[in-house]
Amino acid sequence: MGGRSVAGAGQAGQQRIRVDADDRGRGEPLAQPARGPGPQPRSTTTGWGPPSSAAAAPDAPRRSRLREYADRLRSVFTAVDAGRIDDACERVNALLRDTRAAPVLTRHDDEPWHLHFHAAGEDWARSWAASMATALAVVLGNPVSDRLGVCTASACDRVFVDTSRNGTKRFCSTACQNRVKAAAFRARRRG
Ligand SMILES: [Zn+2]
Repeated sequence: MGGRSVAGAGQAGQQRIRVDADDRGRGEPLAQPARGPGPQPRSTTTGWGPPSSAAAAPDAPRRSRLREYADRLRSVFTAVDAGRIDDACERVNALLRDTRAAPVLTRHDDEPWHLHFHAAGEDWARSWAASMATALAVVLGNPVSDRLGVCTASACDRVFVDTSRNGTKRFCSTACQNRVKAAAFRARRRG
């Protein structure tokens, strides 16, 4: 399975879905939502989240709702990782349903027409979750479904889309890879 065939997923993979269970440590604000497959809008605004004007400074209840969705999105990766593809697909279907995900061509903020995956004016958290659930659905609906992975570093809870050529990615990042390698090296030296 070459990199070409996972182009859509690959772009999604550039944006790790952050699913930190609390606000300590590894958590960073969710930056940009995953981009979808197919032609990208010409503008720099992604078509995958709410309009930028609506995305400023989400309040705590909104963040809390997004975190709940993030937990459910993460569970899709863990299901795939455990070889439970049916379970993963059912979880994504439930997310698509609950987030009311739907492709909608839209135009706002002087942008050209582009594709959103939620209705205009949809709830902030639901908008982001709808976009991410759609991205996962695209991956799971293709032969590349096993490219969804969970970082194997012991102190990391990140998930990733494996866009490597040979599909053998085990870590979310080179940081985790290096940390595990260094720990293994130290363990060997200690004998
Ligand atoms: Zn990691």
